[in-house]
Amino acid sequence: MSGERVCAGCGRRITGYYVQTLGRDWHPDCFRCAACGKPIEGQFAEHNGAVYHPRCHQERFGLRCAVCGGLIEGQYVNYEGRAYHPDCHKQQFGKRCAVCGEYIEGQYIQTFWGEMYCARHAVEYPECYICQRPVCKRLTGGGKQYQDGRVVCLLCRKQAVDDQEQARAIMRQVQAQMVRYDLDTRQVPIPLEMVPLTRLTADGMAGPLARLQGQTLKQIATRGSQEVGRTIEAILVLGGLPPTYLENVLAHELGHVWLFVQRIADLPEDVEEGLCNLFAYLLHQKKTSPEAQHCIHLLEENPDPVYCSRRTGPAASASR
Ligand SMILES: [Zn+2]
Ligand SMILES: [Zn+2]
Ligand SMILES: [Zn+2]
Ligand SMILES: [Zn+2]
Ligand SMILES: [Zn+2]
Ligand SMILES: [Zn+2]
Repeated sequence: MSGERVCAGCGRRITGYYVQTLGRDWHPDCFRCAACGKPIEGQFAEHNGAVYHPRCHQERFGLRCAVCGGLIEGQYVNYEGRAYHPDCHKQQFGKRCAVCGEYIEGQYIQTFWGEMYCARHAVEYPECYICQRPVCKRLTGGGKQYQDGRVVCLLCRKQAVDDQEQARAIMRQVQAQMVRYDLDTRQVPIPLEMVPLTRLTADGMAGPLARLQGQTLKQIATRGSQEVGRTIEAILVLGGLPPTYLENVLAHELGHVWLFVQRIADLPEDVEEGLCNLFAYLLHQKKTSPEAQHCIHLLEENPDPVYCSRRTGPAASASR
């Protein structure tokens, strides 16, 4: 008979109450959720012709977090085509600040050594004179201020060379390594002195220079206008540098010594400094330690080609 209602659930005839939805009719008891099998009263959701409790529908087809697998309700992060709870996304992909330990939001700084920290800490903590990290408890274990004002973190401080004998031993090693490049200074008497920064920045420095670490004091002895001898008064190096950094300074200063005793005279200052940096670079280039790489990095980024030069001028050095 036309007009007869047939249940879309069980296929039998319907008499009495029925549910009409999606253009079909159902016994109320046949109108059941395709997920849990229980009857649906009130609201429902439809999916590919099947009906569900709204909750069951969401359980089965709802957006799920790619980290925890949980349902996503409300805000979420869409990242590379997948959905995440904001917190789950942070935990999975967020970077923690090496200084405060919080997730980094906004601007950050990456150290040469790979750590990241919130940009604001750069003004909150002093920078280590050696490794350039912000000196703080979490990242460097704190630090120490030398009498000359330099702040050195504990990571660098642990390796620092304070002992003259140890420094001399390192200088002999550097001299031996430089022989490979035909830069032999082993026969030159060179007093080595470890000094505070204040000693290096004293008299005659041309402007404030970023990373002053050593200095070579030379002397030309004359009789009348005749040169009668050349001596190295001293190499001054900063005390409290870790060995690799000390090697760096020594290679540079020994470069000045070599140029001086070879009588490679009258090089423009920037050329001589560039050469000495090159000598230091040669010393480090084959080393893979992070400290050696950092020294190279410093050599490369140094904005001032004459950063460590304080030659005693001809007049000042011509003494007997
Ligand atoms: Zn039915
Ligand atoms: Zn259900
Ligand atoms: Zn999640
Ligand atoms: Zn931070
Ligand atoms: Zn440091
Ligand atoms: Zn120099």
